[in-house]
Amino acid sequence: MSKIRILPDALASQVAAGEVVERPAALVRELVENSLDAGAGHIEVHAQRGGIAMIRIVDDGCGMDREDAMLCLERHATSKIRTKDDLGAICTFGFRGEALPSIASVSRFRLATRERESLVGTEIEVNGGKLTSVRDHGGAPGTVIEARSLFFNVPARRKFLRTENTEFAHVEQQLRLHAIANPQVAFTLTHNGELVLHLPATHDMLERIRGLVGGEMASRLLKVEESTFHGITVSGYIGGPGMSRSNRQMQTTYLNGRPIESASISYGLREGYHTALMKGQHPVTFLFIQMDPHAFDVNVHPAKKEVRFHDGNAVRDAISRSISRTLESAAKLPSGHAPARQPAFSLVPAPAMPVISHRQEQLDIPVTRTAAPLRQLAPVSPRAPIPEAPPPRLPVELEQKQDEAPPETKPASSKKEDADRPAAPDFRIIGVLQKLYVLMESPEGLVLMDQHAAHERVNFEKFRRALETGGVPCQRLLMPITLQTTPRDTDLLRQNQAALNRLGIEIDPFGPNVFKVEAVPAFLKTDDPAAWLDDVIEELRSLSAKSSSLRLSEDAIATTACRASVKSNDVLSIPELQALLKDLFACEMPYCCPHGRPTLVQISTAELERKFGRRAPG
Ligand code: ADP
Ligand code: MG
Repeated sequence: MSKIRILPDALASQVAAGEVVERPAALVRELVENSLDAGAGHIEVHAQRGGIAMIRIVDDGCGMDREDAMLCLERHATSKIRTKDDLGAICTFGFRGEALPSIASVSRFRLATRERESLVGTEIEVNGGKLTSVRDHGGAPGTVIEARSLFFNVPARRKFLRTENTEFAHVEQQLRLHAIANPQVAFTLTHNGELVLHLPATHDMLERIRGLVGGEMASRLLKVEESTFHGITVSGYIGGPGMSRSNRQMQTTYLNGRPIESASISYGLREGYHTALMKGQHPVTFLFIQMDPHAFDVNVHPAKKEVRFHDGNAVRDAISRSISRTLESAAKLPSGHAPARQPAFSLVPAPAMPVISHRQEQLDIPVTRTAAPLRQLAPVSPRAPIPEAPPPRLPVELEQKQDEAPPETKPASSKKEDADRPAAPDFRIIGVLQKLYVLMESPEGLVLMDQHAAHERVNFEKFRRALETGGVPCQRLLMPITLQTTPRDTDLLRQNQAALNRLGIEIDPFGPNVFKVEAVPAFLKTDDPAAWLDDVIEELRSLSAKSSSLRLSEDAIATTACRASVKSNDVLSIPELQALLKDLFACEMPYCCPHGRPTLVQISTAELERKFGRRAPG
């Protein structure tokens, strides 16, 4: 007897619903996408009890006539694609024709819709996939979709829902994602009848971002000037060096307006930030990628969050280039970076709370303040716990600049000129703590420099400059060093030999599993080059263990070489320390080491006074 059965439609929808609507936030994604596809200018989202009890979306889009309103609840009913060719170049958010029947099959569902020119609209009710009523509807043009008691008929699914607060946090995050990409659309979000977000329509992307993340963060963003590489156009706003998060929640990227996650994009971001991002941290980005819809496939995942690029490397490269160009041109400015809006850039400690959402506090993940460059650091926000090491403040020299006219943004291609650099501040060196932290007095208070991190930054930039101009000069060793290697190390060194040579390390095979090193980089100050080389190879080994190929990038090798080039317990004389400070301030990114850790930290006199009880906390 045959065992295979075609599933009844209602059951098939419930199965599909498992993939498409796993939680209230997914409903919001699907329904907001539909409203956007319908050309809405105003979208309201109302949620009750995290969206589990109810989600209602009201839009002023094109609406549907009665026939379409009935049809849209059938599986695979869509107005957005017709042929196989359409599937190759999707320009709408929806195309699968799955969302509405899926949602209707796992909730108490109501659809009310009216076309602008129709006198009367249609209201349809569906209960767990069963049509219960169709009647005339006299509401405003547009569409209202309401889903109550999510998963009331699928207890197994309901069990997977988290607390109401968590579910609502996801709902809000989902709406934020759409709101960022669609500033021209007004959005409202309420929870249990309380207003959570109200975002008026605007033509200014930054205005919208400010409405979502608050003025303080928005003012510290860098504008990514629109640029096109390999037919891929990239634009948006990003956090500067040091503005990072411990999770990806603020790393938002859009492909032709659709919020997506993709490994190629993440790699591109990481590559672009390179040493401006601390290990394990994620950047803050609002990045928009535009490309030919034929060049990727969104039909990979039912939730349409992932895409498959035909040429992932091109995407990665385009992103990496535009990020690094943005960071570079920001670093070239005398005042540290090009804030997204000059007048809003406040150097005075004035904690700015986001204006719109009181819920922001709960969702906001603490910024990694330690890695932030001094000049763009914001004061500690009142909600941040009192830090053990207070966040750095501005060196006074730089702070004085606030009265001056904001500097002109230089074109990204303009070459670095020494005149552009801030002069090394005139810090008085007090001493060195634990052979590592240089204590200095500034007119503002106490400045600490991590001598090791500063050195790494200086050497790294020397390496990079030398590489750009044809290779790192090397010094011949009086006695060449011979290295005995394991077969794996042999492969590693062979694979990276050309890069090592370009970095001033003259290394050549010298028999089976033996290498000879005849020269090391000229600026390396070490009396034990063999030990230095050991350290470098050790680090390369651990780097290669983490990557799939033995070949490492030149930058990775340079960073490694720099790390090995300074020891924390080197005792430096005062003139040497002064020279180091001067070299550091001649760097393009003086405020963090190539691994993204801070090089300088400042504790202001005011902070000290507070600690000693001479000034009221606040
Ligand atoms: P898809 O978006 O993949 O086409 P859906 O199930 O989400 O599938 O929606 C089915 C169809 O219903 C859409 O193609 C569209 O024609 C119509 N529709 C859905 N929501 C709206 C809306 N808010 N306004 C107007 N039409 C809508
Ligand atoms: Mg849809």
